[in-house]
Amino acid sequence: MGRIAMIILALAAPAWAATDEGRGDGAQAGTTAMRRMRYTSRSRGEALAWQKEVREQLFEALKLDDLLGRKIDLKAKVLSSKACDGYTEQEVEINSTPGRRIKVVLTMPKGEEPPLAAVVCIHGHGGNRHVVYDRTSIYKGFAAALAARGAVTISTDVGQHEVFEKGRLLMGERLWDVMRCVDYVASLPQVDGSRIGCAGLSLGGEMAMWLGAMDTRISAEVSCGFLTVMDQMEKNHCMCWKFPGLRELVDYADIYALTAPRALQCQNGLKEGKTQFTVPIARQALSEIQPIYRDLGRPDNVELCVHGGGHEVDLPALLAFFEKHLGIAAR
Ligand SMILES: [Zn+2]
Repeated sequence: MGRIAMIILALAAPAWAATDEGRGDGAQAGTTAMRRMRYTSRSRGEALAWQKEVREQLFEALKLDDLLGRKIDLKAKVLSSKACDGYTEQEVEINSTPGRRIKVVLTMPKGEEPPLAAVVCIHGHGGNRHVVYDRTSIYKGFAAALAARGAVTISTDVGQHEVFEKGRLLMGERLWDVMRCVDYVASLPQVDGSRIGCAGLSLGGEMAMWLGAMDTRISAEVSCGFLTVMDQMEKNHCMCWKFPGLRELVDYADIYALTAPRALQCQNGLKEGKTQFTVPIARQALSEIQPIYRDLGRPDNVELCVHGGGHEVDLPALLAFFEKHLGIAAR
C-alpha cells in the first residue's frame, strides 16, 4: 500500500470512530471502540438480553435484517436422486431469497421411523456441498456417517467469494443459505424440529459457529478447526471472515457465546500449523465462552475436543456428541 493511501486510511479512522461513539457498551469518546459487546459474566436475565442485543446488531451488520421474519416460499425441486448404503441422497434446488435459488444435497435414511434428527453439514475453503460426504477427505465423510446412522443431512455451498445480490454481504449470504437449509429440513414432516444440529470444518466450522449463534433452532453444534481469536485471523488467512462493524462489536468467543446454553463442541487438532487454529489459542477463546454457559446454568454443555490430528474432523468425537445431544446412534 502506498504512503498516500495509508495516510488517507489514517485520516479516515477518527471520522469513522466518531460515528460509533455512544452506540454501546464501552464506546468512549476519542477512542476506537473494539469488541464493545464483549461478554462478561452477568445474571441469567442480563445474559439473555445480551444475546438478543448482539444478535440484532450482528444481523444488521450482516445485512440480513430485512430478510428476517419474511415468509419466503422454498419452492423445492428435486433434481436427482440416488440410493446409498442405508439412505437416499437427493440433489434439490430451493429458494434462498425471493430472487436467488441454491442447490442442496439432502439425505433421507431408509428404514428409520420418524421423527428424525437433522444436521446441516458445512464444508470449508476449496470444498463444495458434496465433499462432507467423502470419507477419504479431511471431513472424514461426517455427513455420510450421520446419514448412515439415520439422521437427515443437508449440505450446501458456502465457498464463494463473490456477493450474489445487490446490497448483501458475503458472510451474510453464506449464513442466510445455511439458515435456509434449516428452514428446509424443518419443513419436512419426517424431521423433529427440536433435534436439528449443525457441523463443519474450517470455513465450515466458522459457518457452524454463525449458524448456531444466529439461529436458535440449532440445538447442537460441532465447530471443527476454527475456534480462535480475530487477532490471529488477521494474519495468514483469507480475509473473507471480516466485514465492516464486526470487530467493533465482538470477537469469536462472543459469537460462540450466542449459542449458549445449547450444546456446543469445538474441535482443534494438536497438529494444526503454528499460524493456524492452535490449541493454546482455542483454550484461550474457550475460557471466554464458558462464563455464559455457567451464567445460564449449563456449564457442561460446552466442550473443547483436543485431538491428535491436524486441520481435520475428529469423527468419533463428532458422532459421540451427536449421539448424546441429538440421539443419532449407530444402528
Ligand atoms: Zn475465504
